[in-house]
Parts: sequence; C-alpha cells; structure tokens
Amino acid sequence: MVLQETASAALVVLAGLVGLAVGSFLNVCSDRLPRGQSIIAVPSHCDSCGQPLAPWDLVPVLSFLWLRGQCRHCRARIPWRVPLVELATGILFAFVVFRYGITAQAGVLLPFVSVLVVVFVVDLEHSLILNKVIYPSMAVALVVAPWGPVGHGLSIQSAYLEVLKGVLVGGGAPFIIYLLARGGFGAGDVKLGSLLGLMMGFIPVIVTLQLSFLAGGMVAATLMVLRIRRRKDPIPFGPFLAGAGVAGLFWGHTIFRWYQGLFN
Ligand SMILES: [Zn+2]
Repeated sequence: MVLQETASAALVVLAGLVGLAVGSFLNVCSDRLPRGQSIIAVPSHCDSCGQPLAPWDLVPVLSFLWLRGQCRHCRARIPWRVPLVELATGILFAFVVFRYGITAQAGVLLPFVSVLVVVFVVDLEHSLILNKVIYPSMAVALVVAPWGPVGHGLSIQSAYLEVLKGVLVGGGAPFIIYLLARGGFGAGDVKLGSLLGLMMGFIPVIVTLQLSFLAGGMVAATLMVLRIRRRKDPIPFGPFLAGAGVAGLFWGHTIFRWYQGLFN
C-alpha cells in the first residue's frame, strides 16, 4: 500500500514537471498566436534582440530566476507572466493526475486546462479570444466528450445530450448578454462559453458562468473603487470565463451540490 502511494506521488511530481514544460510552450503560444506567428517553425528567441535562446535559458521557472527576469543578451525584461504560466500549468497538471490518476479523463482534462491557460493569457493581454484556438478546441472537445468530464459514468448518447445542453447554456447565456449589452461583451465570449459547455456539460457550465460573473463583477468594482479603471474602460471577460472554467471542470458538480444545500 505504501509502495503504491509512493508510486502515485512520483507520478504526481512527474506530471507537475511535464506541466512546467507544457507551460513553457503555452507561453510561446500566448506570445505568437495573437501575432499570427508559427508556434513550432521558429525556435525560441528573445522578442527584443532576436537572439536564439540556449537550452539552459529554457528551463521553466528556474531560468527566469537565475537570469533575474532579463534576457541574457540585451537585458530586456522577461515578463512575470512567463514563470507564472509555467508554475500554474505545472500545478494544474499535478492536480489533474493527483485527482484522476492516469485515466482517459485525465488525458482529456490536461489539454482542456492547457487551452484555458492560453485563452486566459491572450485575452488578458490582447483583449482577444482567438478563433484559431477556440474552433479546433471545440472540434476536439466534441470528439472526446464521452471520455472526458462530461461523459463520466454516462452512455455515449447521454454524454452528447449533456454536451448539447452545455453548449446551449454556455453559449446561449453570453449570447443574450452580448445582444443586450452592446459592447463590453464580445462574440469571443459567446464562443468561449460554448466551448466551456462542450467541455463540461450542463450543470458545471452553469456554475462556471455564475462564478465568472461573480469574479468579474468583484474585480471590476475593485478596479473602479481604486480608480485603476473607469466605468467606461472595458475589462476583458475571457480571463474570468477561462479561470472559472478550470474551477467548473474540477468542481462544477460539487459546487452545485453545495449550492443546493444552501437552499434546502
Ligand atoms: Zn534579448
């Protein structure tokens, strides 16, 4: 028993290390996809001076620390986002394997959270939700639905019914707001909401939408009170949807049950 626990602890650590490396790739995606650059054809380089990066400059988190957040050649600042994304992806991967083990469900969740990390960063930095991220992710989510969090314990038919309900709510609610609010809420949010519905199904996507509105409202209010932003300045909503989406994927049903408990 102890041996098995040690083995699974080793797997969780390994998943965390893989996550750090994947996070490094997600940084590259977040940098290049909004600019229309290839994410694989060009080797890693400094964005300021163009110098290619050596393998030891690419060690997740650590190279940022020993380079003190600067390019080795031109001393251009490396954004804090780089190690943070690596760390966050490492933690997410470790958590998925800790909770789901080496299962089909984990195999579906790992790419899902990776996509949400990229959506989070790109919308935060560029106020953009990219079709070239959302559409392929939708296609993949549709195909793998029966093996992912949606289809867990369900027949293939019921899994797709669940997906359908998820998309209708996940895309429908933002679409109504998009029509009513005229600005502030983009078509990208509608697509992202649909993707989330595809990924997690009916109940978790309701929870996700609620969490994102709650978090978005609180952050917007705080920024206004602190006078960091004025009422008219738009705040991208995608980061809230993506962040709440990660919570919805892991705890959607749990939060909903807790919710029901409050009202019963
Ligand atoms: Zn440089």
